Amino acid sequence: MKILLLSCCAPCSCAVIEKLAGNHTDFAVVFYNPNIRPFSEYQKRRDENLRVCEKYGVKMIELEYDNERWQELTSGLENEPERGKRCDICFEMRLKRVMEYAKENGFDVVSSVLGASRWKDLNQVNRIACLASEQTSVPYMEIEARKCGMQQRRLDLIKELNLYNQKYCGCKPAKV
Ligand code: SF4
Repeated sequence: MKILLLSCCAPCSCAVIEKLAGNHTDFAVVFYNPNIRPFSEYQKRRDENLRVCEKYGVKMIELEYDNERWQELTSGLENEPERGKRCDICFEMRLKRVMEYAKENGFDVVSSVLGASRWKDLNQVNRIACLASEQTSVPYMEIEARKCGMQQRRLDLIKELNLYNQKYCGCKPAKV
């Protein structure tokens, strides 16, 4: 089974990448995060994610930075709180695009670390992933990124690898 893992950033994905690589899982990481602003921040997170992938010998695919479309889709939802309706749209856009990519490029299943952080609502991520899966006919596999020591390992790796650890999810309600 070939897995395509959507990563939002190195701090959220490092422990999962380490574990999958250690288990010799057939997988690649995809960086599709047009929600991140400004672009310099996007570049910083992308480069840091690439550093982690290279450390574990994992391929990282970067998809387009389509922030204009992201803004169109989330227009009117600028004042929504994190975990609100804007996040529904944001997750759906990213997961659907990654599922379409998976379908076209020989991956069997998509997974993500979008719910790895304690700031996220894992049920929300899984609900939207299910929806995207129904729309694209690509299966979604929930991956353990919080329990079973994964949170602690994530924190340890952030320190060990001196990972850049941002202070906000990705979007900023006001245009920058
Ligand atoms: S808070 Fe994060 S998940 Fe929610 S809309 Fe912004 S970038 Fe997307």
